[in-house]
Amino acid sequence: MMATTHAAMGVLLATPLFWVAPELAAPAALAAMAGGVFPDLDLGVLEHRKTLHYPEHYWPLAAVAFGVAVGSPSPLTVGAAFFLLSAAVHSVTDALGGGLGARPWANDDQRGVYSHTRGQWIRPRRWIRYDGAPEDLLAVVVLSMPALALYDGLVRRLTLAMLAVSVVYTVVRKRLPEFDPT
Ligand SMILES: [Zn+2]
Repeated sequence: MMATTHAAMGVLLATPLFWVAPELAAPAALAAMAGGVFPDLDLGVLEHRKTLHYPEHYWPLAAVAFGVAVGSPSPLTVGAAFFLLSAAVHSVTDALGGGLGARPWANDDQRGVYSHTRGQWIRPRRWIRYDGAPEDLLAVVVLSMPALALYDGLVRRLTLAMLAVSVVYTVVRKRLPEFDPT
């Protein structure tokens, strides 16, 4: 799944704040966006879908952060809660995508996301066959709709930018392995 799909998922989770604490909806959405992208920063140098992906450990942290945010709501506490929630959801939903490997559409890799608790890889379910698949693009578009309807300002601009990046990525995705030196 694309990092933008995870970011849109996080923003969607923050939208109920419009009815609870509208003044915190934007900081929550921006933090959720960052938290949705954050685990994928382990791409490249670190071990992808392992170093910053924690399908189990982000949840208790998010629960504590939500407790703090409810007790003393502020852009910082609510932002931290949605950052962690978004990273937690990202780490779990990666198991619904394809495997690692340069050509995940080939189904030649059975690593979905690493479970640090079990000490082994969770197999990919392939509901979304690979990052940048047409169904991945469809997911990011659908998940972004509520945000585009509710938000203006920076959240709206970033959502539109991420959709543009997603379209380009989907178009070039299958050609990317050609540029990989390995
Ligand atoms: Zn990921």
